[in-house]
Amino acid sequence: MNAKILKPSAQNIALCAEEIQKGGVVAFPTETVYGLGANVYDPLAIDRIFEVKGRPADNPLIVHVSSFWQIKNLTHSLPEKAVALAEKFMPGALTLVLNKAENVPDKVTAGLSTVAVRMPSNKIALQLIEKSGVPVAAPSANRSGTPSPTSAKHVFSDLKNKIPYILNGGQCRIGIESTVLDLSGEKPLILRTGAVSCEDIVGVIGAVGVAAGSSGAPASPGMKYRHYAPKAPLYFSAYYNAMQQSICAFYDDAQAQGKNPVILCLTTNQPLYGARQTIPMGDCFNAYAHKLYAALRSADAQKHQTIIAEGVPSEGVGAAIIDRLIKACGGNIL
Ligand code: AMP
Ligand code: MG
Repeated sequence: MNAKILKPSAQNIALCAEEIQKGGVVAFPTETVYGLGANVYDPLAIDRIFEVKGRPADNPLIVHVSSFWQIKNLTHSLPEKAVALAEKFMPGALTLVLNKAENVPDKVTAGLSTVAVRMPSNKIALQLIEKSGVPVAAPSANRSGTPSPTSAKHVFSDLKNKIPYILNGGQCRIGIESTVLDLSGEKPLILRTGAVSCEDIVGVIGAVGVAAGSSGAPASPGMKYRHYAPKAPLYFSAYYNAMQQSICAFYDDAQAQGKNPVILCLTTNQPLYGARQTIPMGDCFNAYAHKLYAALRSADAQKHQTIIAEGVPSEGVGAAIIDRLIKACGGNIL
């Protein structure tokens, strides 16, 4: 049976909370992307998340909470830096990796001694977690490897016959995943850039390291998998300055080969591409992040066989956009 897309009434939130208590999985909106949630303390329900998503078992889940005391129950110790960051960014798009308490199942953390925790700010998410009465382990509600879902429709398109309910909260406000910060070691380390910028974090706790996402053993297990990829080959213009010329040349070449190319660009840059096909990404980089996954999915839906994404500067949310595009393009850098 196909998933029911539910409006987020109190009654429907209660229905989804009951499903979680019964050991089921449900999709729900957060301000970053849609999540696929289950009771963190129910190992069979956690198995179901991995099965539904096709997620490798060695990629741990973020545990979503609705209150600070739930974080205390999930960890051994709360470093001062965690408390300072929680005061500033919780609820919000920051995930903290902390030493885990014994009762957090190994399946959630992929056998690691640490657990990733986040308190989302989306009201529907908070109500669902609170009603469930347990922390909710939730990766993004897409099939592993595809662009993350930022609308109920995206979730339905990936998981329609695999889950009973999708709570519909409209489009995700931020549209890109949370920042993952590891506070379990000596030095704070950003494992995944996200909506909370490196500059924001440094402003609260001082110096942080940024994990290299490429060679060697990945610091965050999820970093070694290809992610967020549309079906069509994606090309990313990493050079922010003077990129339009190389994008136009690449587009024209793809057009000559019958690839029906399209360019993802800032709305203000559209005129620079003349008559070439574009998907406007808004007027600022927050808008670019907000539209990114929907644009990749719509380029596929419109049967473009070459997708070209404009580069962005690496400050603020730009660092997270670059990270996602580099992972999605599989090495196709212009
Ligand atoms: P997703 O659920 O798809 O947003 O991915 C969650 C990200 O957090 C992945 O990159 C995971 O590898 C990472 N993550 C979750 N738990 C941990 C942990 N305990 N230590 C390091 N990274 C983690
Ligand atoms: Mg994901």
